[in-house]
Amino acid sequence: MELLEERIRRDGKIRGGDVLKVDSFLNHQMDVSLFAEIGKEFRRLFGDCGVTKILTIEASGIGIACVTAQFFGCPVIFAKKNKTKNIAGDVYTSKVESFTHGKVYDIIVAREFLRPEDRVLLIDDFLANGSALQGLIKLVEDAGATLVGAGICVEKAFQPGGDRIRSMGVRVESLARIKSMSEETGVEFC
Ligand code: 5GP
Repeated sequence: MELLEERIRRDGKIRGGDVLKVDSFLNHQMDVSLFAEIGKEFRRLFGDCGVTKILTIEASGIGIACVTAQFFGCPVIFAKKNKTKNIAGDVYTSKVESFTHGKVYDIIVAREFLRPEDRVLLIDDFLANGSALQGLIKLVEDAGATLVGAGICVEKAFQPGGDRIRSMGVRVESLARIKSMSEETGVEFC
């Protein structure tokens, strides 16, 4: 998606070689008109898949998922990062290793919101090693729901997540795929 690539070139900041900061338009301050274009693009790609729920992970996926959901006319569920040791109640749970902090945490979704008859589209801001998507995929599988695919804003294609998730047979559509990046040369797209 040309618009997103241009924005990354203009406003993205590379940190430590493998982290792209997009705080000025995606992860902190949010450019909602850009989100709308992103949502329309996801709708173009997945519009004929009969999506009934969009599933994302807190916190940075929520804004994009909500704007996207307006184009699908369906609800958004965000998997919550569980803060207590005991996971109680009627929830599906899985584990995610944080790319940015390295810690492993549990994510949960209430069973009442993810049903076997649901057709689920996953939405997230970044795809790096694939742990966040793997965690979300497990929640969908545990619910017995149908996974339609994953819509990602920025895939760092030089990291293994994209190959990992696609080799599981999941359709992954990334709007910007980064082939390489460095503080010296900037970002190169696939
Ligand atoms: P993964 O689980 O695929 O390794 O990483 C995906 C998650 O880590 C995303 O939900 C995102 O929040 C975060 N993430 C991974 N790489 C980056 C990055 O380069 N920049 C930012 N801002 N977040 C990232």
